[in-house]
Amino acid sequence: MKGLRVLSVAALILAMAGPAGGYRLRSRSVWIPSSAQADHWQRSDFPLRFRMLENDNVPVGVDLGHDRWTAIVERSLVHWTEIPTARIDIELEEATVHLPQADQDDGINTIGFSSHEDFVDSWFTAWAAWRWDGDRLVGCDIEVNPDFVKNWGPQDPYQLLEIVMIHEMGHCLGLAHTEPHPMPLWADLPVRADPSFLPDPIMSYSNSYGVELSEDETVAVSLLYPAPGFLGTRGSVRLAVGAGDKRFAFAYVQAVRPGEPGVPAGAGPGTFTDHAGNFHLEGLTPGHWILWFHPILVTRRNAHGRLLEMADESGTSGFPHFWTWVRVSPGRNVQLAGLGARGIRP
Ligand SMILES: [Zn+2]
Repeated sequence: MKGLRVLSVAALILAMAGPAGGYRLRSRSVWIPSSAQADHWQRSDFPLRFRMLENDNVPVGVDLGHDRWTAIVERSLVHWTEIPTARIDIELEEATVHLPQADQDDGINTIGFSSHEDFVDSWFTAWAAWRWDGDRLVGCDIEVNPDFVKNWGPQDPYQLLEIVMIHEMGHCLGLAHTEPHPMPLWADLPVRADPSFLPDPIMSYSNSYGVELSEDETVAVSLLYPAPGFLGTRGSVRLAVGAGDKRFAFAYVQAVRPGEPGVPAGAGPGTFTDHAGNFHLEGLTPGHWILWFHPILVTRRNAHGRLLEMADESGTSGFPHFWTWVRVSPGRNVQLAGLGARGIRP
């Protein structure tokens, strides 16, 4: 693949550079892409092929031989390949490659502990680096910081590694960062956190670490790589959000399933509003949903790049959260008139 002069950009760096990341789906040209606008693989690109780097960059302070590390990677892939509503095939080659870090001229994507200089003295745990040939996505390498154990302290390093791998593969598949579920963090609610809202999505920067994908993630990749019949069973909602003349730019919209006897309420998919306060939330199951609007919760700049900054600039960061009901029908898009927060002064 020497002839492919492809661009390799770490996802973390990409997120700071413009309309490219930091949102639920990724695009190099649109701030908040719909699934149709989002960057993704073509059907013919599957199965995505990966192989393990084998080198001396093993983390210190953790008992992690090559076999154990490979088993963790294999477990992480299953989370994506066994989503019933999506068609995602990922193959991990048996052969490894002896390299200190990803080699972008290699035809097969790599996964491994990296000696990349940007990891030195960095708190980065890992990144997924997409490679492009012009407008065509041609590769994605996952590099993990061997110092992660030192940086992430008392957590179980094996579970953390599995979560990191699931997260980075989510980036490789086209997902950007999302928000944690609002319930556990929302201190002004007269209720305690409901366990049905835990854990937070793996693609969020949150503090509740579970290894199961959230509905936000399974729906998002199913929109990009739908199993037959999936799209016809789901509906979507479009809405503009604001107060008076003011639009809530780059706020978050969390769909919440209201629950029924025997089925607790819980978080469904979510998305961000764009610069004009518009959002398009896709992949909702038919029925009633609560849409919960709130400012961005994760204020680590790396999580959302310019998104957070632009929310600040537009004055969105401080609006009080609010919610509304919506009824979703399969195969249909619900176009609601603008919705505003009560008590907001324009
Ligand atoms: Zn990430």
